[in-house]
Amino acid sequence: MLANVSKNVFLHASQNRVLNKAAKKWGLRFGAGQVVAGDTIEGAMKKVRELNEKGLVCTLDHLGEFVSSREEATEATQYNVRTLEAMAANGVDCNLSVKMTQLGLDIDRSFCLDNMRRILDTAKQYNNFVRIDMEDYAHCQMTLDILRELRETYDNVGTVIQSYLFRAEQDVKDLKGVPLRLVKGAYQESPTVAFQNKEDVDKNYVRIIEEHLLSGSYTAIASHDHNIIEKVKEMVEKYNIPRTQFEFQMLYGFRSELQLSLIQEGYKVRVYVPFGKDWFGYFMRRLAERPQNVAFALKGFFSK
Ligand code: FAD
Repeated sequence: MLANVSKNVFLHASQNRVLNKAAKKWGLRFGAGQVVAGDTIEGAMKKVRELNEKGLVCTLDHLGEFVSSREEATEATQYNVRTLEAMAANGVDCNLSVKMTQLGLDIDRSFCLDNMRRILDTAKQYNNFVRIDMEDYAHCQMTLDILRELRETYDNVGTVIQSYLFRAEQDVKDLKGVPLRLVKGAYQESPTVAFQNKEDVDKNYVRIIEEHLLSGSYTAIASHDHNIIEKVKEMVEKYNIPRTQFEFQMLYGFRSELQLSLIQEGYKVRVYVPFGKDWFGYFMRRLAERPQNVAFALKGFFSK
């Protein structure tokens, strides 16, 4: 009961534009520094290099979402381009994750598409890959439409499918051959479009992972759930799926020991490394997912 209340409070806070804006000025607070890799490209590069040295590959996310002005979206696009350039200059094993609302999806679809093309052209130049994160349900169809349009020209782009959505299984079937990151889903969605209980979300998660792997498509399984990870290990064994066809993904600062033990077992593990000033929404969603995270957030709060 209490867990549900705190989950709702954090999810609401994550989408509160006033708080998100204010937090940009505060700098990293409340323990957010443990899950956000600093607020500059240089700081993020340092963390990525350290992770690479441990055998982990990365994806960098310059934090930002729900942008409402063209200036901010253009700035975010330029920042993402610079991030790709910095990855190449530093020779790190890392790709990029972006959010469509950061690139102007709520302002003008074709403007957003142009911004994404600039990022993908840069990625192509450096032989790199860009993943479009999936945001809330209100943006899902638009994001998938943009992905399809981009895939006509670019093969270095993929997206994310959330197993809490009823539509997930059909989307995965429709996206056969596209590199997908499969997740449970991080937003608060209505019972008219999404499973509400964990068992259903988990069952659908395993179903879509199997669907995408068996279609021969490259699959990223992004979860901290050891039960799911064990099921995936059994599944790939059973169907003889080569290790080059999938990877595990986890967030920076979460289950670091599990990340390393998977590496030792010979699996590929990618760490999602968020950085930047716009940390608040991301951090609130992490608190909503796992009440235990509140403990370290409070510790961070009192040590400021
Ligand atoms: P949960 O269902 O939260 O946890 C299941 C069980 O796993 C827990 O009961 C516990 O036993 C164990 N567990 C979980 N976390 C921990 C921990 N930190 N320490 C110890 N045990 C733990 N969501 C989106 O909507 N869009 C995206 O684009 C997106 N991208 C993502 C990218 C990555 C790399 C990852 C890892 C997640 C992403 N997510 C995204 C978030 C995702 O949708 C889930 O909200 C989030 O991962 C929580 O679900 P879970 O599968 O990790 O496990």
